[in-house]
Amino acid sequence: MSDCVFCKIVAGQIPSTRVYEDEHTLAFMDLGQVNPGHVLVAVKKHAASLFELEVAQAEAIARASVKISQAIKKAFEPEGLSVYQANGKAAGQTVFHYHVHLLPRHAADGMELVWPVKNPPREKLESHAEKIRRQLA
Ligand SMILES: [Zn+2]
Repeated sequence: MSDCVFCKIVAGQIPSTRVYEDEHTLAFMDLGQVNPGHVLVAVKKHAASLFELEVAQAEAIARASVKISQAIKKAFEPEGLSVYQANGKAAGQTVFHYHVHLLPRHAADGMELVWPVKNPPREKLESHAEKIRRQLA
């Protein structure tokens, strides 16, 4: 038996406030509610992070995120909405079952993301891009 909290939510063994589900996804209210209408969209079949995600799961998460974001916009009329998703402890992931935050945003709502840009020269960008392209081939 998995001790993954989100697997237990998907299985209904831990209560959640559900807003949407389909074959691959389950969306439920984030307990923290940074702003009203804060929803988590999780895959039903366990995948720890983006690195383990199947294409069908990724497609379903994208479809559900659009649909639910549009519903959140109508329901709560936020000024904006952040899509937040973390992979691995170093990235700030705390629940190791793939999920996306749909976070309604308002000006000066206290959410901050520190973004320490390095602005490397173009040659460095080309070198980084080449490393990635080699893995995509
Ligand atoms: Zn899980």
